[in-house]
Amino acid sequence: MPLIKSLSAMQNPLLNLSLRGRFQLIMWLSIMAAMLATTVGIWKYSQFSQSKKNIEQTSGTLLAELENAFKESLLVGEIQSDLILFIQTAHPETMKEINKKSAALLNQLPEQTKPLLEQFLAKADTLEIRMASLRLNNNTVLNTGNSVMESLEQHALCRENQPCLQGVSRVGQIFRQTRPLYMNGILNGQPHKLKETKQEISQLLGSVIKDLQLISHKLGPEQSRYLLHFIDLFHELDESIATVAAIRERVVDSEKEVLDLFHSLKMQLAEISIAHNKQAMTLADQGLKLATNYVFLMFAALALVTIFSIVTIASMANSILSPLDSLVDLLKKFTVLIRGIRNLSNSEKLHYQELHEQIINRHDEIGDVGRATQALLNHIHSISEFRRKIENDTTCFDVYVRLGKIFSQELALTRFVIYEISNNGPLTPIYSSPPELKEEMPDFTITETCRARRTGAVVHSFHDPDMCPICHVNDILDYFCLPMLGGGEIIGIIQFLLPIATTESQKKQYQDRLTEAQNYIEEALPIMQAKRYAQELESIATQDQLTGLYNRHYLDISLPQIEAGTKRRNTTLGVLLCDMDNFKAVNDTYGHQAGDTALTELADILRATVRGSDMIIRYGGEEFLILLQDIEEKEEMVVAEKIRKAVANHTFQLPDGAQTQTLSIGVAEFSGSKAERMGKVLRNADIALYKAKEKGRNCVVKFNKENGNAEA
Ligand code: GH3
Ligand code: MG
Ligand code: MG
Repeated sequence: MPLIKSLSAMQNPLLNLSLRGRFQLIMWLSIMAAMLATTVGIWKYSQFSQSKKNIEQTSGTLLAELENAFKESLLVGEIQSDLILFIQTAHPETMKEINKKSAALLNQLPEQTKPLLEQFLAKADTLEIRMASLRLNNNTVLNTGNSVMESLEQHALCRENQPCLQGVSRVGQIFRQTRPLYMNGILNGQPHKLKETKQEISQLLGSVIKDLQLISHKLGPEQSRYLLHFIDLFHELDESIATVAAIRERVVDSEKEVLDLFHSLKMQLAEISIAHNKQAMTLADQGLKLATNYVFLMFAALALVTIFSIVTIASMANSILSPLDSLVDLLKKFTVLIRGIRNLSNSEKLHYQELHEQIINRHDEIGDVGRATQALLNHIHSISEFRRKIENDTTCFDVYVRLGKIFSQELALTRFVIYEISNNGPLTPIYSSPPELKEEMPDFTITETCRARRTGAVVHSFHDPDMCPICHVNDILDYFCLPMLGGGEIIGIIQFLLPIATTESQKKQYQDRLTEAQNYIEEALPIMQAKRYAQELESIATQDQLTGLYNRHYLDISLPQIEAGTKRRNTTLGVLLCDMDNFKAVNDTYGHQAGDTALTELADILRATVRGSDMIIRYGGEEFLILLQDIEEKEEMVVAEKIRKAVANHTFQLPDGAQTQTLSIGVAEFSGSKAERMGKVLRNADIALYKAKEKGRNCVVKFNKENGNAEA
């Protein structure tokens, strides 16, 4: 996962923090980020809610205004239709209705439109007055017309008088022509044709008046009055029609004015309505933007929270799981390693090394576990290395030397003495650091005085300097005595000496180092025990139990080595075969036990007389073979003589007092430069011994190589 990889790269600066510390840092960062996000969110939300409030308020006002405008437009519509009805019918009730609705409208209208409505109302009043006047004058016209009609019905007054009848007929004809002209041309006609129609009517009426005036001259007074009455009526009609036409003209003007004003009012209201609509659209636009912002804000917050959660969880998971994975991997490798590091291939070792460095260089709990495991592994490894080395060592002493190195070099325990206990004997200091220390230590010959040996438990002076009085030799050094238990018995004691611990932490440090030393000792104990057994077995097999000298078996196994060594160095080996003279008599006289004691004394004389590098072997009952390494010419005879004299001069402790004994010695030489075999040389020595016995005993005889004889 690339995200995890990049996070793991980011995590490096955090390496110095513990896991808990890292977790806490991430938590704090999360909390701070969440607080920041919350603050920004609250700020943005307050902005958003303020804008929302403004929009709500404005839209509320706008809605009220729109509602008002809607009601206004309804009223305006009603007033308009009433106005048209009024213009058509001139019904006064309709005008009342218009006034009522206008008064209602006036209350609702915005201030700027009120003067217009007021003007409209004033014009409407004028219109109404003119309409009333029109109505009145129309009635006059109609009444005059009715009078004409009534007078026409009196045509019997003409009494079959042709000119009178012609006159009446002419009146009827003109009246019939005038009526539709008046109705369609004056009352309801087109305004621009008013004057034309009025002139047409006047001409018609003028022509009939003229006709009637001419006819009336030809008639009697009654008939003449009858016709002249029509002339009056027509004059009246002409006049009232002219009045109606004039009023109609003004009514038309008023209608136009009223309609124009109403139109202006409607236009102004429409403009206000359009402005409102525009405002509503702006508001809607703002609302939409706000909603978009809000949605965006929501999505952004959601995305931010999601990303932050993923990053936090991923980094935490990576921070915790990835090192754990490495640790598990490392522990697996450790397991393999513990089973045997030599079984790992080189590439595996390399991989382990890398992994190991990754873990132990960390500064958190995983690093702690890694380092602790590494320390444990190192410990196991060095202990197993130590064990492997001491297994291949020859003697217990070699093991002591190796233990000593670890004590002083690795554990800074530079002052110690290793004591051995053999066959339940006294404590014998075998090895010490520094070497002279073992000479300075108290005498442990009286075994009971060693508390560690007596109790089989660790004894130290950390809490009580007098825990073991014999060890409490001064007040400068603390002692720590550790019994070495092997096969159920104490085979030795290791005593560590340390500068007096003055603080608890120093004591604790001592304890830790000593515990570590104990681990090594415990590891070595079974091997030391085995080596001790092996040493004992070897000494049993190669040592003579009575004298402590080498036995015949040892000679057999070491002869080839001695022979090869002498040949390699090209030196000479002196061979002395010694036999007690008349020893049978000692046994016979003092008993076998006394004979054994004498043999022990003889062994001591032999040991004291020859060099440490020479070899003394109990060859038979009272026969001893001495091999003198790398001797000069004739030196073997000198040594043999020295031995003979030492024995002859020694006083053997026998039951009835001191006695002297003698020794006969046969001498032979094994030369490394000659192709001889040791078996042959031994036989030569035997021959020489035989010659010495023959010569009378208590003498030294050397085998003569040239003639195969022995010589004194
Ligand atoms: P010589 O060698 O001088 O000819 O006389 P000898 O008495 O020493 O003769 P021989 O070699 O025949 O006798 C050896 C005697 O040494 C026999 C035995 O009683 C004695 N002897 C051998 N081994 C031991 C031993 O381990 N202990 C004791 N006490 N006596 C031994
Ligand atoms: Mg003998
Ligand atoms: Mg003998």
